[in-house]
Amino acid sequence: DRTAVTVIGLGAMGTALADALLGNGHPTTVWNRTAAKADPLVAKGATRADTAADAVAASPVVVLCVLDDASVRAVLAAAPGALAGRTVVNLTNGTPQQARATAAWAADQGARYLDGGIMAVPPMIGGPGAFILYSGPREVFEEHQGLLAALGAATYVGEDPGLASLQDLALLSAMYGMFGGFEHALSMVAAQQVPAVEFAPLAASWLEAMLAGLPGIAEGFDAGTADNDESNLAMQAVALDNIIDASADSGVDPELMRLLRARMLRGAAR
Ligand code: NDP
Repeated sequence: DRTAVTVIGLGAMGTALADALLGNGHPTTVWNRTAAKADPLVAKGATRADTAADAVAASPVVVLCVLDDASVRAVLAAAPGALAGRTVVNLTNGTPQQARATAAWAADQGARYLDGGIMAVPPMIGGPGAFILYSGPREVFEEHQGLLAALGAATYVGEDPGLASLQDLALLSAMYGMFGGFEHALSMVAAQQVPAVEFAPLAASWLEAMLAGLPGIAEGFDAGTADNDESNLAMQAVALDNIIDASADSGVDPELMRLLRARMLRGAAR
């Protein structure tokens, strides 16, 4: 598959996407609002488009990766009439509602539309750990699967265009919860002179062991039985009390743990 492709948005992520497509032999046209960001890609063989409309017109597949939904709308509005017959692959982070609205708008323009959620940081693009969620018409996904695979494992999650961003945002929620907890943990140990770098391997082992519990938690969630006998929620709320007290004793703000304790108590009451 050597389909020509356009990449619009050359921030950290768009640049990585364009780089991977170029590296896989796709003739690649690029455009960015701030034109100079295209220079390194042009030096590697990409074609520079002078306007967003030229960029859209240049290739049958148009990958969008800009900051947010408003930027997507700004870019697409600047390319009126150019979208007919194109396949737009929008990898900009957004909400399911935004994805559905953009899909409907693209259909009005005569374009085919896939929405995507990138589960990787830029250096991972095109490498083994990266995966990207896609939603929209299955036949459009299947037609372009080869091209999309150049960016990371292409994972199709359904026809409803909102499903990729829904699961992207849910995965990010899980990640931010974990990172927030980890940062709190670092503050706790650092306040008692345990260096963060010494503690980090313990945290990694512990979290890795806990990951094994995710399927069980999900089963309980589906069955409506969130509690379990070996680690009941009322007992865990007491551990959270201790975390909050120990944090406060060290001058560490326990706000995140207070939030979790309140959730735990609500769960126990249910
Ligand atoms: P950057 O901040 O590096 O780049 C933002 C890009 O958006 C730039 O190309 C910028 O253009 C463009 N942009 C912003 N506003 C407008 C506008 N009004 N009109 C046209 N272009 C605009 O962000 P990233 O590249 O890191 O992220 C891009 C998308 O990828 C985001 O939706 C992000 O959530 C997603 N993503 C990023 C990840 C990451 O780790 N970096 C991971 C997973 C997803 P200009 O250069 O002119 O400012």
